[in-house]
Amino acid sequence: MKRILIILLCFALYYSCGKSSMQFTDAEKSLIYDGDETRGMRILLTTDRRDSLFLRQLSSNIDIKKNKKELQHLIERMRVTLKNSDGVGLAAPQVGISRNIFLFTRYDKPGFPVEVVINPQILSYSFNKVAFSGDGCLSIPDLWGVTERNETVQVRYYNANNELIEEKIKGHQRPQDFTSIIFQHEFDHLEGVLFTDRISGGMLYNILQISK
Ligand SMILES: [Zn+2]
Repeated sequence: MKRILIILLCFALYYSCGKSSMQFTDAEKSLIYDGDETRGMRILLTTDRRDSLFLRQLSSNIDIKKNKKELQHLIERMRVTLKNSDGVGLAAPQVGISRNIFLFTRYDKPGFPVEVVINPQILSYSFNKVAFSGDGCLSIPDLWGVTERNETVQVRYYNANNELIEEKIKGHQRPQDFTSIIFQHEFDHLEGVLFTDRISGGMLYNILQISK
């Protein structure tokens, strides 16, 4: 009985470690290196069936130490992709890498830097919720909506320097500071959730309706 328990424990440990600290696959590496670090990546779109299914996947953690070089290259390319698309955030699944990595703009910091988030967790959500107007996504062309979000989130993640950060992210109002909303939007991508799943009271618009 004791031996069976030990085997089960080893299996559980192997399984959980394997899931939480995986390395990039060969397919992921070839996508990351199909351009140099000055070249953007293709953004997956919900208007394409295969892309749409990919965006619904659950992403997995990445072993930062064992994937340092690839991770750095991916991050540089994601930065270029985000800059070229004029967005405020970009998650790795949106460029075809199903890993827990995203970039988000810090409107709560001077100069609005774009920061890197790796293997994040949301530890807690504020009790207060907000109806956020103008949620949109680089993967969902021409649609905007009012989403239900939390005012703040307490989070833990690794930054680009492999430092473990724990902080409360605030800011839920456009245009001054909506950092917390961006964090929640990008975190959702890692779980296969899109902003259209969080539409509050059927408030979804297309670009034509907005420009009228
Ligand atoms: Zn998005």
